[in-house]
Amino acid sequence: MESAGTAGATAVADTRGEPLDVVVIGAGQAGLSAAYYLQHRGLRPERDFVVLDANEGPGGAWRHRWPSLTFDAAHGLHDLPGLPLGVPDPKEPASAVVSRYYGSYEQQYGLPVQRPVRVARIEDEPDGLLMVTAASGETRLTRTVVSGTGTWDRPYWPYYPGREAFAGRQLHTHDFRSAEEFRGERVLVVGGGTSALQFLLQLDAAGATTFWSTRRAPDFTATPFDAEWGVDVERRVNERTRAGLPPLSVVAATGLPLTETYRAGIEAGVLVSRGKLSRIAEDAVVFADGSREEVDVILWATGFRAALDHLAPLQLREPGGGILMAPDAVSVVREPRLFLVGYGSSASTVGATRAGRAGAAAALRRLRADADRRVTLSA
Ligand SMILES: Cc1cc2nc3c(=O)[nH]c(=O)nc-3n(C[C@H](O)[C@H](O)[C@H](O)COP(=O)(O)OP(=O)(O)OC[C@H]3O[C@@H](n4cnc5c(N)ncnc54)[C@H](O)[C@@H]3O)c2cc1C
Repeated sequence: MESAGTAGATAVADTRGEPLDVVVIGAGQAGLSAAYYLQHRGLRPERDFVVLDANEGPGGAWRHRWPSLTFDAAHGLHDLPGLPLGVPDPKEPASAVVSRYYGSYEQQYGLPVQRPVRVARIEDEPDGLLMVTAASGETRLTRTVVSGTGTWDRPYWPYYPGREAFAGRQLHTHDFRSAEEFRGERVLVVGGGTSALQFLLQLDAAGATTFWSTRRAPDFTATPFDAEWGVDVERRVNERTRAGLPPLSVVAATGLPLTETYRAGIEAGVLVSRGKLSRIAEDAVVFADGSREEVDVILWATGFRAALDHLAPLQLREPGGGILMAPDAVSVVREPRLFLVGYGSSASTVGATRAGRAGAAAALRRLRADADRRVTLSA
């Protein structure tokens, strides 16, 4: 495992050595925020806690955002604790801005980020410990885990009849790079979120013929995206995770901001949905109203799901399909050694920083209770 602070050094884990206090999984906004607060409150990097990140370099999910997504076209980025982002060049790709910012942050605070390390599974061990196993087979024993693995690694592809028979190209937001690739092609964009809107406008400008499919009428809203509205969105997402249901993504719950650019797109007929898809043919798509369009490409801008496969051995899924979360929105009801940050109501740039703080505080509370229990047992 390679540490950000000691590039090139390799620390092969001793599985039976002293357990760590905390393993943070993921060095996105949520994981870095958690790491900052763990360190700030006295945990020692490498000795007491580490951060394991699957990426090749800093930036979390933002590292992978398509190059044409400039910083001003993203919806903004909340500061990490202790180091403001400043005012980046609005025309620089968001992926470059955020990767540089997170990288400086890791360096400035000497955070013990080891990468690339993909955690494959977490399992229960004797003595109240958890075993964290990387895809490489390396293992770490720990008393608690703060998991901030985001959603980028779990693109969601909905099923429609005929999808497998489509002879053209199909790709997901996850794999989109540049609208220029689609010049002169007929492209169906599926999905009702802001990624779909941005793709449609870019594709149209690049000379593609676009069609848009959404399951419901696009949810354009003139509501100001203020604090009160933000609290309401988080409350609605929280209601689901506290009932053990899979989270509705925060971004999905926000609706679409009716900006000047989007208004112009609607007026130009580019941002007008043809409605729900009914089926897919070899060279065409058929909408629910029976209309049909020949297309070369289907771009699935259909969102992401929480990347939680590594937690499967802990068997945390409720009958509703989600993980039952405590009222603090970071503690897992069935597993008191595990904290989820950037999950459910904190799966936004504002929420992730705050959840990192709450996750670190909850892990430290658990460690104190655990230490008290061990003192009592040994007395
Ligand atoms: C296309 C897209 C657009 C978005 N736009 C917005 C927006 O405009 N506004 C907004 O508020 N939010 C937006 N979001 C939500 C976004 O996810 C949050 O803003 C925030 O960046 C998430 O931070 P995070 O730390 O939770 O996750 P991420 O930034 O995804 O970081 C997770 C990290 O965990 C690592 N990881 C994953 N699995 C493992 C594993 N098994 N082992 C080790 N490491 C692992 C990943 O490599 C990654 O580095 C968007 C998300 C997507 C996908």
